[in-house]
Amino acid sequence: MITKGPRGTKDVLPSEAYKWNYIENAAREVASGFGVGEIRTPIFEHTELFLRGVGETTDIVQKEMYTFMDKGDRSITLKPEGTAPAARSYIENNLGVDQQLKMFYITPCFRYERPQAGRLREFHQFGVEFFGAAGYSADAELISLAIAYLKKLGIDNLKVNINNLGCSECRKKYNDALKEYLRSNIDKLCTTCNDRFEKNPLRIIDCKNPDCKEVAKDVPLIIDYVCDECRDHFDGLKGELEALNVNYVVDPYIVRGLDYYTKTVFEIISENIGAQSTVCGGGRYDGLIEECGGKSTPAVGFAIGLERLILTLEAMNIEVPKPMGPALFISSLGDGAKIEASKIAFELRCSGISCERDLLGRSLKAQMKYANKLNSRYVIVLGEDELKQNKVNLKNMETGAEEEIQLSDIASIMKARI
Ligand code: ATP
Ligand code: MG
Repeated sequence: MITKGPRGTKDVLPSEAYKWNYIENAAREVASGFGVGEIRTPIFEHTELFLRGVGETTDIVQKEMYTFMDKGDRSITLKPEGTAPAARSYIENNLGVDQQLKMFYITPCFRYERPQAGRLREFHQFGVEFFGAAGYSADAELISLAIAYLKKLGIDNLKVNINNLGCSECRKKYNDALKEYLRSNIDKLCTTCNDRFEKNPLRIIDCKNPDCKEVAKDVPLIIDYVCDECRDHFDGLKGELEALNVNYVVDPYIVRGLDYYTKTVFEIISENIGAQSTVCGGGRYDGLIEECGGKSTPAVGFAIGLERLILTLEAMNIEVPKPMGPALFISSLGDGAKIEASKIAFELRCSGISCERDLLGRSLKAQMKYANKLNSRYVIVLGEDELKQNKVNLKNMETGAEEEIQLSDIASIMKARI
């Protein structure tokens, strides 16, 4: 049916777009305060990028990608996340020459999932990536950016969970212990996890299948297998978070959905938006740039799901400031006045003063009702007399005060008022 959007998509209507503008503007402001520049990458990439950059054993690659052949017989995928494209662009554009590079993006993402509250097939992310810095200070600054953003929106009661996944060396040791444990439970795991057992057993801990979750309850924990360097990194991060007064909890079960994480991973949870409660997920991915064909480069990043963020604002009854109504509403009576209203509106709009008028030929009473509905700050009524005498009553709708002004002065008077 062409009058219904595809399953898992959602229109943002004019009546709610102000919420999106508000959270996106806040994201841009906070990013700018942290010295983070914007990157915009295409909506689609070569499928290969995500196979490598997200990982072949992840849910995203195994179940969720929108992949198709284009007319030139290339396999193309709609971006399911923003980090791999940012890494691709970083390599392609040789951005590594800036040794410390911080980037953010606001982007739609596409995942073929079962739609439910907070889980869509097209959704949006505000993501931040720091490239080049290996030390824990980058992790702490990144987490503090997420917190600063959420605080700016009035959200200050979220849970910050962190974990340490170690490096590839720690992972090898841990995988042996993990497989040892899983081997005796392998018949309880789903078919996807049976496949993951050899390729990437860590993924099994993140599986959403209830039987796998049951098995995952008693797994050995990676945090007990990390090497000294990875332990020091994590201790340093914890110290810096404490210095910043970030209330975190170490959750040794977080492994995150993407294959590329090393050392730090974290999640920020909103407890009042139902089952899909992870608003922000991120971590360090020191191996990704090299995996995608670049020079070995440390990096750390996060992504915040904007639909879940809006659900959180709504659940917490946080009012997003509504946009102001037009500065001036010009009502008019008669054809001459209508043309004059059009001229004044055009002049004001060109000088940045918002203006509205009736386009439906409504009665004066209906025009005034409409001006009220729009929350107009000032109103004038133009008729034949006003045009003849070059005079008009400027009414302040908030105070009700009226004053007579020269019609030809309207632009300069409005500029002074707004
Ligand atoms: P989940 O475990 O909920 O599936 P994820 O680990 O797949 O999340 P990430 O890939 O880390 O999520 O994406 C970062 C954020 O993007 C998530 O924390 C969430 O807020 C949001 N997000 C992920 N998938 C969806 C979706 N299908 N619909 C809406 N938001 C999503
Ligand atoms: Mg997911």
